[in-house]
Amino acid sequence: MPGRSRHPGAEEFLPESRTLSALRDAAASCQGCDLYADATQTVFGAGPARARLVLVGEQPGEVEDTEGAPFVGPAGRVLERARADAGLTDIPTYVTNAVKHFHFRRQGKRRIHQTPRAGHVSACRPWLDAELETLHPDLVVCLGSVATKAVLGNDVRVLRDRGTALERDSTVGTGTFVVTVHPSSILRAGADRDAAYAAFVADLKVAAALVS
Ligand code: SF4
Repeated sequence: MPGRSRHPGAEEFLPESRTLSALRDAAASCQGCDLYADATQTVFGAGPARARLVLVGEQPGEVEDTEGAPFVGPAGRVLERARADAGLTDIPTYVTNAVKHFHFRRQGKRRIHQTPRAGHVSACRPWLDAELETLHPDLVVCLGSVATKAVLGNDVRVLRDRGTALERDSTVGTGTFVVTVHPSSILRAGADRDAAYAAFVADLKVAAALVS
């Protein structure tokens, strides 16, 4: 579109009705940044409207892009196991991402994950804000630095601030947050994987204590 930014933002695609289903339906046609063009589909958040806990990740991966649901790939399996080990399974939980389309580069037949750019995160933030405004959760857990920056800005650092209750102003008001690593980092931790997993579970146990 002549003269138009590649990241005009999702705002104009938001529906008047702010129910989760209305948001999900509207997000399916979002063209708020260039990521919609190459990805398979929008991967919106999933979980009950009565969710007390929201987990925010970075963006859908290869499997999520194909299946159209968040955290259903390898990182999702780590998260599911860690949630169980942290005692979070019985807490009504909504899972979503800071960016709703898969950002990748092609290498032959493979699609290689690319970290979303700040412009993608900013363009997509109206969807995340709308999800959080609609859900009003007791606690938001940010998984990784992209989610942490998207929700809390640049003042919070994952490795410095992980696993503690943070009372902060966010784009959707004052609330309680916990930040931790993205579960995909545990898959990349090599020989340190067990320790990385244990630290991740310890962070999620802090979240469990806050919502129990
Ligand atoms: S990544 Fe977000 S802003 Fe960009 S097209 Fe997808 S839903 Fe819209």
